[in-house]
Amino acid sequence: MSGLPATSREWHLVARPQGWPAPEDFALREAPVSAPGEGRILVRNLHFSVDPYMRGRMNDVKSYVDPYALDRPMEGGAVGEVIASEAEGFDVGDHVLHGLGWREYAEVEARHAAKVDACLAPLSYYLGVLGMPGLTAYAGLLEVASFKEGDAVFVSGAAGAVGSLVGQIARLKGASRVVGSAGSDEKVRKLVEGYGFDAAFNYKSGPVKDQLKKAAPDGIDVYFDNVGGEHLEAAISALNVHGRAALCGMIAQYNDTEPAPGPRNLIQAISKRLRLQGVLVGDHYGMQQRFVEEVSGWLRSGEMTYDETVVEGIENGVEAFLGMLRGANTGKMIVSLTR
Ligand code: NAP
Repeated sequence: MSGLPATSREWHLVARPQGWPAPEDFALREAPVSAPGEGRILVRNLHFSVDPYMRGRMNDVKSYVDPYALDRPMEGGAVGEVIASEAEGFDVGDHVLHGLGWREYAEVEARHAAKVDACLAPLSYYLGVLGMPGLTAYAGLLEVASFKEGDAVFVSGAAGAVGSLVGQIARLKGASRVVGSAGSDEKVRKLVEGYGFDAAFNYKSGPVKDQLKKAAPDGIDVYFDNVGGEHLEAAISALNVHGRAALCGMIAQYNDTEPAPGPRNLIQAISKRLRLQGVLVGDHYGMQQRFVEEVSGWLRSGEMTYDETVVEGIENGVEAFLGMLRGANTGKMIVSLTR
């Protein structure tokens, strides 16, 4: 087929990180682009996502997703434009969401791609507020944590993709108090002034337990955990009777080389009849339509604010991922290939 690019640059994992990943664990390589086979489409990726769960896929351990293979392109959410199609229902020029990110061009099985509308929202939103992180926030809070009006909510990682939405959904659904923690004073200001949290603190400025007690003097009913460790322990102490914790992520320990100790105060779960439940976004696709309708309504009306930190250029993909792990992002970290 003429007019197609000859090659595509793609990021490979070349060594399994021990502890914090280093740039040397990755390589940007060039691969030939082939015309799509039957039932497949060729997509020019416009944006791809870098997410915390990808750190887990770099380890060779059994989990809910397979580990990345060495010397193969990494995968992850991406949106792009169809440039060749051998699949019914997909035309050149269509925009699609699919799972073959970390590369410039992707040959995708059409049944694993979903058309998205660039007129309804910027395409990158389908990787964030209207995509996987958004559904995680929505389902984790409303379904897993059984949020109800009047609950006091604490969310960690509150200035990130999931956390910033959890806090705002809680506010919009009538929380009595919304408290968040984040890793810089600037992010803390954003939580209160930009996202409408009632209180927020910088977890690097002092013990989480003390700061949480000050921010939520009457305790909390829901904890949305993105961080684990000291945050989870502090939240268990702050949870009121019949409180619920949605265990969504524990980013504080993703680069640990030894198993992290458990919360030392778990015994409180008995007397306070706490419920601590894991969240996996994949369990909640049944809520997708309700989630998109409600969240896009809040975005349209301006009741919800959404931020992205955009890194330009495929060559900066790994730096964007490492930056996200270090907290360089406010809102969703996106790699854009539109230059
Ligand atoms: P994100 O919050 O946008 O980005 C990660 C953030 O984590 C960083 O910006 C950084 O912010 C914070 N962080 C890094 N190390 C930390 C530490 N030691 N202590 C406290 N905070 C730390 O990422 P996201 O995509 O929204 O994901 C948030 C969490 O949800 C992650 O744990 C992720 O694994 C989880 N998640 C789970 C599911 C699921 O289905 N279970 C789905 C999506 C995401 P600071 O500057 O504030 O430190």
